[in-house]
Amino acid sequence: MRPFTYQRAEDALGAVQMASRSNDAPPPASAQFIAGGTLILDLMKLGTMQPHMLVDINALDARHGRIEATPQGLRLGALVRMAQAADDAMIRRDYPVIAESLTLAASAQIRNMASLGGNVLQRTRCQYFRDPSWKACNKREPGSGCAALNGVNRKHAVLGVSDRCIAAYPGDFAQAMVALDAQVELFGPAGARTIKFERLHRSSATPEVETVLAPSELITGFLVPVGPWTRRSAYVKIRDRQSYEFALASAAVALDMAGDRVREARIALGGVAYRPWRSHAAEQMLSGKPLTEDIAEIAARAAFSDAHPREQNHYKIALGQRTLVRALMQVGAMEV
Ligand code: SF4
Repeated sequence: MRPFTYQRAEDALGAVQMASRSNDAPPPASAQFIAGGTLILDLMKLGTMQPHMLVDINALDARHGRIEATPQGLRLGALVRMAQAADDAMIRRDYPVIAESLTLAASAQIRNMASLGGNVLQRTRCQYFRDPSWKACNKREPGSGCAALNGVNRKHAVLGVSDRCIAAYPGDFAQAMVALDAQVELFGPAGARTIKFERLHRSSATPEVETVLAPSELITGFLVPVGPWTRRSAYVKIRDRQSYEFALASAAVALDMAGDRVREARIALGGVAYRPWRSHAAEQMLSGKPLTEDIAEIAARAAFSDAHPREQNHYKIALGQRTLVRALMQVGAMEV
């Protein structure tokens, strides 16, 4: 591990000022925020990330560690721990897709430490990215190529990919945020702003820049609007083993139903895409239709109509479709 300095911020403004004062270094050496540290310390030990400075944000104002319910919906502070949100009785009842996406992620120890803000910024598990002895990785070294295109790519993405990068986004909670039309609160050198969560992650055209966060900009919270679909929601995750494993395919689904008909569907896919993947194509197929297994299968086929598999990950198309059908039928059968 390379030497680095450590500073502790007391509030969001102080954190941003500390990071921006020292952020003349380009990635991977630029200053980084640390909360739970469950990812960044891992990547620093591997040599994949080499920040010259860590800014500890755990002492930020209490507001950023709180779960708040308002008539408009739910606010989750960025420093809320994964386990805290997963175990919250109100979230389990009113926003089950959030609780399930968090419960099915990582190990209990990691869920106790990891913050929601850090969780959505997880970096890919692509083995070529995590091992700097591989030279060809556009995400780590822009312009160097992509070892996964013709290498080991069984777990890589089939949606939103390009010849520059086919890495799969590894998180779960982000899919719940996309499916619930959440917004994300940001605070940076230019002040505070709020954007749609769906716009947080960038496309594979620029693998080395993964989000729209400006340098030294911090996630401070998530806003989830309340709606008839929030209670009727679920997260289904398929993985190689049932514990402490990343998704091969997952689906976050929230439905607004009128009897057995879908008034409005919200669908996000995980494990199969370069970034948290909103499937507007599947949503449109379901709108106004009765929720039968046949209709769900048509929607699932639409969700993967633009898939671009590589040699070892063809199976993700069928697996992703079956995962979405299962999630839709499960949510359709919910008593709310
Ligand atoms: Fe790097 Fe992306 Fe290729 Fe993996 S898939 S080697 S992260 S460019």
